[in-house]
Amino acid sequence: MQFDYVVIGAGFAGATIAERIATVLKKKVLVIEQRSHIGGNAYDTVDENGILIHRYGPHIFHTKLPHVWEYLSEFTDWTTYHHRVLGVIDGKTVPIPFNYESLHQTFPPALAKRIEEKLTHQFQYNSKIPILRLLEESDADLQFLADYIYNKVFLNYTVKQWGVRPEEIDPTVTSRVPIYLSRDDRYFQDKYQAMPKKGYTKMFESMLFRENISLLLNTDYKEVLRADLETGDLFVFGQPFQGTVIYTGPIDSFFNYQFGELPYRSLNFEFEHYETEFYQSTGTVNYPNDYDFTRITEFKHLTAQTSSSTTIVREYPQSYVPGVNIPYYPVKNDENHALYRKYMQRAKDLRKVIFLGRLAEYQYYDMDAVVSKALKVFAEKINS
Ligand code: FAD
Ligand code: UDP
Repeated sequence: MQFDYVVIGAGFAGATIAERIATVLKKKVLVIEQRSHIGGNAYDTVDENGILIHRYGPHIFHTKLPHVWEYLSEFTDWTTYHHRVLGVIDGKTVPIPFNYESLHQTFPPALAKRIEEKLTHQFQYNSKIPILRLLEESDADLQFLADYIYNKVFLNYTVKQWGVRPEEIDPTVTSRVPIYLSRDDRYFQDKYQAMPKKGYTKMFESMLFRENISLLLNTDYKEVLRADLETGDLFVFGQPFQGTVIYTGPIDSFFNYQFGELPYRSLNFEFEHYETEFYQSTGTVNYPNDYDFTRITEFKHLTAQTSSSTTIVREYPQSYVPGVNIPYYPVKNDENHALYRKYMQRAKDLRKVIFLGRLAEYQYYDMDAVVSKALKVFAEKINS
């Protein structure tokens, strides 16, 4: 069969771009995926106990972007879900992000009230303050609070997750979970927060199982497609290929690690089933200071599934070793970004290959950001 486009990877980036090409342009697309399933890291499946689980860690959909919400709504109905996280601090659970509820649950009333007044005066009610910013405050009470949150919420969690201290990673990472000057105890404040009603995999099926899309699972693209990195010529099944390739795998692997490996963090997921209706009171409980795992998520809170038993997952951070485990998190810092830019520069020479998604762009993208970027790339580079 002849194809107009080849898409490598069937996660959010690959599925969105393949669907748009097949539906809008009515062109033929070959999607190549090395795993045995579609959905990338958002893949979900029913475990041996009948509980819908996320194989590669808990995925909670949330977005401010109406066009992303409308686009995905073409492929799924939704179950409203507002994620809430508790952190175990000195044996007590408090809402994370640390907010005014957490403040009052942690400190004696008079101190909590005084700190709340100072915070509201300094930053305004409803604002979000990154921990590294709060640490700059000179007022003694705010210093005390900043030190407390830094040490009890961020320091040990970050060392577990990233292998380095909070000030050694890009500030945008810890500012994903800012101190929130509000009583709103949700993890996200986005307008749209929901889970695909029948799960992510069903949504991906609805995107990909359609006319003009052929899917090749269990296949490393290198078995099918060869890119001559000098001339930019492409070959698919050994034949010259004149179409465009959209690559959503790791960019360094595409160039055979020519400039060295881009660092990632990986995770080991430990699933456990319990013959009880619920294991914990909320979707996720973070353990910044205890144990080797960072957090426990209980899927039934996310998916609204009813069952007399339940499955949880514990996340154990690890360093990433190519070929051994999965690259989950790009490690943002200046040095790694400089290395990524070398690959990006190289990628520019390949006019018929588009690099898209969390791995190919080496970006700490959430799902909605990947969909948004894929729709933009489709509009600007493919359907233009
Ligand atoms: P991926 O999902 O990684 O897809 C890339 C695909 O390419 C994979 O299926 C891979 O197998 C395939 N591939 C790679 N190399 C090859 C090759 N050589 N040949 C063939 N195929 C190949 N985002 C949120 O919005 N909310 C969350 O709650 C959330 N939670 C997360 C929790 C964890 C633990 C992680 C790791 C991420 C989380 N994310 C979350 C982010 C989310 O997973 C990503 O934004 C999204 O999956 C990125 O989609 P992608 O298509 O770019 O990449
Ligand atoms: N973080 C932390 N303690 C927490 C929650 C988050 O130190 O209780 C820091 C940590 O560095 C983490 C980052 O904030 O990697 C971003 O957290 P988020 O929950 O967004 O991570 P993700 O869900 O992407 O793994």
